[in-house]
Amino acid sequence: MPTALIVGSGPNGLAAGIELARNGVEVTVAEAADTIGGGMRSGEYTLPGLIHDHCAAIVPTAVSSPFMRSLDLAAHGVQWAWPEIDLAHPLDGGQAAVLTRSLADTARGFGVDGPRWQALMEPLVADYDTIAGDLLGPLVRIPDHPVKMARFGVAALAPASTFARLFATPQVRALFAGNAAHAWTPLTRPPSNGVALMFAVVAHRYGWPVVVGGTSKLADGLAGLLRSLGGRIEVGTPIVTHDQTRDFDLVMYDTGPRSVVGILGDELPQRIRRAYERYRYGAAAFKLDIAVHDGIPWSNENVRKAGTVHVCGGYAEVAYAEKETFHGLMPQRPFMIVGQQAVADPSRTTGGLVPIYAYAHVPRGYPGDPSALMLDQIERFAPGFRDRIEVVRAHGPADLLNANANFIDGDINGGSMDFRQFVGRPRLAVNPYRTGVDGHYLCSSSTPPGGGLHGMCGYHAARSALDYLARQHRHI
Ligand SMILES: Cc1cc2nc3c(=O)[nH]c(=O)nc-3n(C[C@H](O)[C@H](O)[C@H](O)COP(=O)(O)OP(=O)(O)OC[C@H]3O[C@@H](n4cnc5c(N)ncnc54)[C@H](O)[C@@H]3O)c2cc1C
Repeated sequence: MPTALIVGSGPNGLAAGIELARNGVEVTVAEAADTIGGGMRSGEYTLPGLIHDHCAAIVPTAVSSPFMRSLDLAAHGVQWAWPEIDLAHPLDGGQAAVLTRSLADTARGFGVDGPRWQALMEPLVADYDTIAGDLLGPLVRIPDHPVKMARFGVAALAPASTFARLFATPQVRALFAGNAAHAWTPLTRPPSNGVALMFAVVAHRYGWPVVVGGTSKLADGLAGLLRSLGGRIEVGTPIVTHDQTRDFDLVMYDTGPRSVVGILGDELPQRIRRAYERYRYGAAAFKLDIAVHDGIPWSNENVRKAGTVHVCGGYAEVAYAEKETFHGLMPQRPFMIVGQQAVADPSRTTGGLVPIYAYAHVPRGYPGDPSALMLDQIERFAPGFRDRIEVVRAHGPADLLNANANFIDGDINGGSMDFRQFVGRPRLAVNPYRTGVDGHYLCSSSTPPGGGLHGMCGYHAARSALDYLARQHRHI
């Protein structure tokens, strides 16, 4: 039986392990940290009984992933829970735009922008399942569905700043900007529009759920599934030398490219080594876990029901904040993602206290503490919020890196999402998962399609590795 070592137990490492194990490979996962999951960990970070997600919290990326959908995760204890409102974007004066799974309801709420939103979204939502495999994979190849991909691609390649002009109301323009900000690039550049469209399309097709009991339950479910296929997982086991990998036919790196350089060194072909060394990291996250009495008192009632809240202000403020952080400057009013997972999953609360998750986009490696700016931003749209806070715990870029070697300088996407690295990640190649060393594959979010809990990087890397094994077998 061929053997594989998976370096790291994030969603992509576990996905690679599952895909290999269900195709007859004996899998061992080595995880550096003391707990499995990488970006899928949860814990009682503020007070006993309050479950906070350490990294990933809102999981449209997982429920819409063709790989995750191919797994019987329910049999391994994974349950999704959807909030009544998937996304809200509050503005000054108590106004807000809200996005729900229902395209018709969302369009109705968008007023004069509703018909345009509906006309834009309808064909993209209808095509999503067909083109998901193309979208969530390497972009340097002929897609399986070129016509439908072209329809999405033409819209996706425009910058969000151009596209947002289609909408007349400040609410819809702001909501669109908030989704575009998930590209962590200025809104004047691609792939900001592609990311904005993708997040909206997935909201209307699958919603933006959370994992019941915390995102760590998804890690547990994936690990349980892998074990049921014969896989083994060892925690507290960093892989740092080539020698540790020599007993295996395949090695899958759920790490950044620079870690692969550290492990394989001169065995990498020179041009690939250089590409890995030149790989760029982007802006960082600064994360707060907050224990709040009775939840956040948003001025707008709808925002109280939302699982995710984009906090920044109007379109111009989001655009400004993203431009500043991209260029290494800390804005006074940062763009923030606030998670209210408990509206969908009340099991995370205790005694009237609600766990709140909030992270701001900050410059790469930011050494300062923007906690006060972040709390002010929430207070701006929810007067009285500060009075309800019981405990705040901050995790800056250095803390994120400490917990996970992949979060270089606090970049949570496995590398900058600038256009070049969006198309060619970690290098421009037809098979970006190959490291150039036989049997060794990169499978983390530093490969296509990038960050999130879709597991598609791991899946594609595993398929490449299985092709390699089949070729080897033919030669024997
Ligand atoms: C604050 C924050 C908020 C986020 N919010 C969301 C969200 O709401 N939704 C979403 O979909 N995504 C979110 N993400 C992003 C998501 O967590 C990542 O994109 C995803 O976890 C990447 O998966 P991965 O498998 O590539 O790597 P990771 O999840 O980073 O896992 C890599 C694993 O490899 C281990 N490792 C690294 N080097 C070694 C080594 N040498 N030896 C052994 N083990 C090693 C690490 O310890 C880690 O466990 C968020 C991330 C953060 C930090």
